Amino acid sequence: MDMRNADNPSTDDGSSPIVIAGAGYAGLHVALRLTARLRNNPTVDVTLVDRHDYHQAITELPRVAGGTRAADAVRLPLQGMLSERVRFIQTEVNGFDLARRHLLTGTGPIRWGRLVLALGSRPNDFAIPGLAQRTLSLYTASDAELVWAAARDALTAAAAAPDPEQQRRLATVVVGGGGATGVELAGELAEMLPEVAGAHGLAPDRPGVQLVEAGPTILAGSSQQLIDKAIRILSDLGVQVRTNATIAAATEDGFRLQDGQLVEGGVFVWAGGLKAPELVADSGLPTGHNGRVKVDRYLRVLDHPDIYVAGDLASVVDPRAGHVLPPLAQVALEEGETVARNLDAEVTGQPLEAFTFRDKGFVVSVGTSRGVADIAGLATGGRLAHVLKDAIEWEYRQSVKHLRGWDPVAR
Ligand SMILES: Cc1cc2nc3c(=O)[nH]c(=O)nc-3n(C[C@H](O)[C@H](O)[C@H](O)COP(=O)(O)OP(=O)(O)OC[C@H]3O[C@@H](n4cnc5c(N)ncnc54)[C@H](O)[C@@H]3O)c2cc1C
Repeated sequence: MDMRNADNPSTDDGSSPIVIAGAGYAGLHVALRLTARLRNNPTVDVTLVDRHDYHQAITELPRVAGGTRAADAVRLPLQGMLSERVRFIQTEVNGFDLARRHLLTGTGPIRWGRLVLALGSRPNDFAIPGLAQRTLSLYTASDAELVWAAARDALTAAAAAPDPEQQRRLATVVVGGGGATGVELAGELAEMLPEVAGAHGLAPDRPGVQLVEAGPTILAGSSQQLIDKAIRILSDLGVQVRTNATIAAATEDGFRLQDGQLVEGGVFVWAGGLKAPELVADSGLPTGHNGRVKVDRYLRVLDHPDIYVAGDLASVVDPRAGHVLPPLAQVALEEGETVARNLDAEVTGQPLEAFTFRDKGFVVSVGTSRGVADIAGLATGGRLAHVLKDAIEWEYRQSVKHLRGWDPVAR
């Protein structure tokens, strides 16, 4: 394959295999959009690799963790979503042979002409002692199932405890990290736990939810108006929010804060941060903040123009804001779109397109029927924001299930 610089389109003859590693928001989007774009180039070989044969609707995990949605409902089978020309291989990606352009997997090496890395994130424990061992995380449908099971077990244990104080402690879920994930999880649990408490022989006011955040505010980076609205709903739901509360260690007794206080509970969940998967750290690829892979403005790895990165794994600086874009599905989908366009451009000999992020706004559910939203600088809170969140999830599901690579705005 002829590797030219970005301003000179490649003379790719279309026969080099394109391999997409990861069928999450970014990777699946690349697969769907690319097959639509390559309709007239049937010789290009497209392979999608993932450890699961389903796509996970991660943005819906707080609902699974709060018991309002079944885990299987957020595992969307890939079969039927992909067009027939995409070869799907279910296997674990273990590493890369950059020199020979081979993806190293559980089913053997897979050669790429162009590789798309879209392997997502994993929880970041920031090396806080005990955190990885003593907390549950929330990144997969199975994680979410475990959180809900642990919350119910905690209610059972609380019901068997002799005194109200002990009951209260055991029936408390402590969530570390006051970002959108922590807020959504705390809201769901605060709304659902009192409902199920009765079935465990507990008073509805016995369960508790605490949200522990190291920074001065929850939903950092959002407008003060949005934050105030979220705090109001959380407080209405009985969530105890602690800010400026840095967790120094997770012990058998609970979260030990830097100021020496102990936050006790029956279940501890860590939603305080994400980092790149381990295998990328040992790959020889250039990495930046949180181990994410550094890319050029076309989303190709620096010094490796045969590899694109999209989604959480890409370290993309937003030139307007001057900081790295956050790990969001919205960002992953937009990056996936640019990667699909650029792969198509390489095949058809067109110039590459630089990535620009177009922020569509920010919506966070807080409990089962309310939420907060910031669209075009306008902050709203209440039922409308929750309806908006439902609509976004519904629209996403429709797009991946039914488009099958059809591109309504093909250029
Ligand atoms: C609880 C929660 C709620 C969220 N809610 C929102 C929200 O409301 N809005 C929003 O914009 N963002 C939200 N996000 C962030 C959003 O989910 C991520 O930004 C998005 O999933 C990133 O997409 P991705 O394609 O990079 O990674 P992922 O969607 O995580 O996909 C990565 C894929 O790679 C596969 N994979 C990883 N490693 C390997 C390997 N070694 N071998 C084989 N396969 C592998 C995985 O199975 C997975 O399919 C939320 C995140 C969490 C954790």
